[in-house]
Amino acid sequence: MIKNKKDGILLIVSGPSGAGKGTICKEIIKDLGIWQSISMTTRLPREGEVEGVNYYYVTEEEFKKHIDNDEMLEYANVYKGLYYGTPKKEVVKRLNNGEDVLLEIEMEGAMKVKEKYPAAICIFIMPPSMKELKRRLEGRGTETKEKVLERFTKAYQEVNEVTKYNYVVINDEVSNAVNKIKAIIEAEKCRVDRIEEVEVGNIEEIIHEELIGME
Ligand code: 5GP
Repeated sequence: MIKNKKDGILLIVSGPSGAGKGTICKEIIKDLGIWQSISMTTRLPREGEVEGVNYYYVTEEEFKKHIDNDEMLEYANVYKGLYYGTPKKEVVKRLNNGEDVLLEIEMEGAMKVKEKYPAAICIFIMPPSMKELKRRLEGRGTETKEKVLERFTKAYQEVNEVTKYNYVVINDEVSNAVNKIKAIIEAEKCRVDRIEEVEVGNIEEIIHEELIGME
């Protein structure tokens, strides 16, 4: 009766490093079967990270080649000299196929995508407090003190600009945050502007059938 527009939903999840967006995204993917884009980066792999699973790890020269060839949906120079970006081809292909796509990217890149694709749904994950965020960043033990400070400074800037997003979700408890995001997706799928056609049948025919039934 109602035919939805074929394009999948493009979901962008951002939030400060340490807000827990990685864990939340994993849960969403597991539960809803959404495909998450694999980004390209010039940062080196951390222990346990795998090429083509966590990121595509490339040199700066290779990254710039992809930009010049117009192969990136967006990219940003996130931390001093480190590039991160979303390869375009697979994202566009899947959206056109009606699949939902999730991007876990920072704010600058998220806003670039939103400009190109206004239908994208941008969700910002907030830590319960900035003190808690600092504690989580320090507790990771994967970065130097200088890098923790750099990530914390960027977090402060991002949190101040949260109003650029469509939704904000506080990650006090992972399961709460995941449920909220699921509710957002559900609601977005019901949006009137996702409807292509409404076919309700002919009123006279329906009334006529009803009258016959009453005889
Ligand atoms: P990490 O180095 O901790 O893996 O990621 C650092 C930051 O880069 C995170 O905030 C993450 O969301 C962001 N990021 C990861 N992939 C992309 C991407 O493709 N584009 C942009 N703009 N940011 C990304």
